Amino acid sequence: MLGTQLYAPGDVRIEEMPEPTLQKPTDVTIRLAATCVCGSDLWPYRGLNKFERPMHMGHEYCGTVVEVGSAVTSVKPGQFVVGSFCLSDNTCPHCRYGFQSSCVQREFMTGAQSQFARVPLADGTLIALDQQPDDDLIPSLLAASDVLGTGWYAAVAARVEPGCTAVVVGDGAVGLMGVLAARQLGAARVITMSRHKARQELALDYGATDIVAERGDDGVAKVKALTDQIGADAVLECVGTNESMQQALAIARPGSMIGYVGVPHGVQFDGGRLFYSQTGMLGGPAPVRRFLPKLIDLILTRQINPGKVFDLQLPLADVAEGYKAMDERRAIKALLRV
Ligand SMILES: [Zn+2]
Repeated sequence: MLGTQLYAPGDVRIEEMPEPTLQKPTDVTIRLAATCVCGSDLWPYRGLNKFERPMHMGHEYCGTVVEVGSAVTSVKPGQFVVGSFCLSDNTCPHCRYGFQSSCVQREFMTGAQSQFARVPLADGTLIALDQQPDDDLIPSLLAASDVLGTGWYAAVAARVEPGCTAVVVGDGAVGLMGVLAARQLGAARVITMSRHKARQELALDYGATDIVAERGDDGVAKVKALTDQIGADAVLECVGTNESMQQALAIARPGSMIGYVGVPHGVQFDGGRLFYSQTGMLGGPAPVRRFLPKLIDLILTRQINPGKVFDLQLPLADVAEGYKAMDERRAIKALLRV
């Protein structure tokens, strides 16, 4: 089969490799319908993370079950499945509390930018659809696997409530999904911090009410001006840099929550500033599995269209161009047809 390997920063290749096989009784193998390139794939691609070389890339997936391990009870060969990028048993105390991304058996999905992939902990990770989805829904179902689930978690963690004012820091794919989620959860006002025309337009399409193009102190001042100097009721931090985190902290009103889902790189906090800010923070890898049933239902009933976040569609064979386009910010998110 064809699979994607990262050999060195900037050197991602599609190549022939053995098809995955079942390794544990709780595994399944799937034939992918589509996969995609994640913003977090760009960290090793840019040489900002150490990694084992070559690294078999890809953690976002949906597709058809090929083979099931002997212990798997909830999915069958031939079913179309969507799963979380975090693999979980969905039975341990953390899973039952809704934090499947901290499952005691947690693993992270790998090797999904391929024709076939192995999914460990299948019963606790996958949701099977009742029937094959319409082809035009596949991008949205794929989005549920990570980017939509992560944006949704940011909104839930930030405690977005009906009528509230939410601010989304970051206009990448996750930030745009955060806008969608905040509106679905009833935010009356969603302020998006974005400097890029195409992303601003998609944010407006997903229900953003205000766009703030300024950054740093100017951006903070603009948000304060839009909120009568009070600040936001809920802040979704979807970047993970020190600048974006400080910005989130500066625009959150006392008593509010910051949902932070950008993987932190160089983020540092001042204890005194945190103390006096009186804001709460909840973040980390999104427990996508918690939200999957609801998200899949919203997609199948066509109430949301997260798939629009893929503004570049390529065949899997052109995966290297997908990385390049995202690295150069020519694309928000690249979908790979398998
Ligand atoms: Zn668990």
